[in-house]
Amino acid sequence: MVQARDICKAFNGNEVLKRVSLDIHKGEVMAVIGPSGSGKSTFLRCLNHLEVIDSGSVVVEGQTLVRTNAQGQAQYAPEAQMRAILRRMGMVFQGFNLFPHLSVIDNITEAPMVVKGLTREQIMPKAQELLRKVGLLEKADAYPARLSGGQKQRVAIARALAMEPDIMLFDEPTSALDPELTGEVLRTMRQLAEEHMTMLVVTHEMGFAREVANTVVFMDQGALIEAKPARAFFEDCSHPRIRSFLDNML
Ligand code: ATP
Ligand code: MG
Repeated sequence: MVQARDICKAFNGNEVLKRVSLDIHKGEVMAVIGPSGSGKSTFLRCLNHLEVIDSGSVVVEGQTLVRTNAQGQAQYAPEAQMRAILRRMGMVFQGFNLFPHLSVIDNITEAPMVVKGLTREQIMPKAQELLRKVGLLEKADAYPARLSGGQKQRVAIARALAMEPDIMLFDEPTSALDPELTGEVLRTMRQLAEEHMTMLVVTHEMGFAREVANTVVFMDQGALIEAKPARAFFEDCSHPRIRSFLDNML
């Protein structure tokens, strides 16, 4: 589904990603863990072009988003192709990023109307179905300011799903939430996983990584240290850096 190869990214000479390669398969739920500053968010942002990479390649469903040319520089696909590829990826951030001036239902219908050119009537049944799915149908006409953090995050998930992405990227979707609100968002994500949505989830929730993810990826200092089936990752973890990270987390 997504193949990332040798992704390099530096900010002002500071190498934040050092040849990171990763394959995400259809239906796979991959958890990305690692210390603060290890490059997890930057990697996610490179996948969907919120950051421009220095070199490497990203291929989504056989379509090349970016590759390294003969001069060793990253070369992105032409604009239209790039947009088509990026549309396959839904993203949910830590900070919700809902449109504050739009109601919940309008937050969900906005992108399909603007990007896909659908009418409100065409997208409405789908939008309502998604709201029901995240348990917020009764909040359709509410504004984001009136929602709890957990509710906002569930709207953000529904909004991303409205574009019918092939893969969902999550960057610490629960870390801005009070502990009692974390569960409802994780439940929504678990449900998505059970429906075989392909997901890449940066998270500090080790329970989620252990129970829901198929694969766990550990990053440290801009490098991918290990990618393993979740069970094996937690059960026979011998890498000292991972060991000490887990000991601090649990
Ligand atoms: P956390 O767990 O705290 O979210 P992270 O693993 O997501 O950490 P990143 O946010 O990817 O880490 O940051 C990796 C490194 O890149 C850090 O040293 C950070 O300071 C640096 N960095 C990230 N974005 C920028 C930027 N826009 N400009 C300069 N440096 C940046
Ligand atoms: Mg981060």
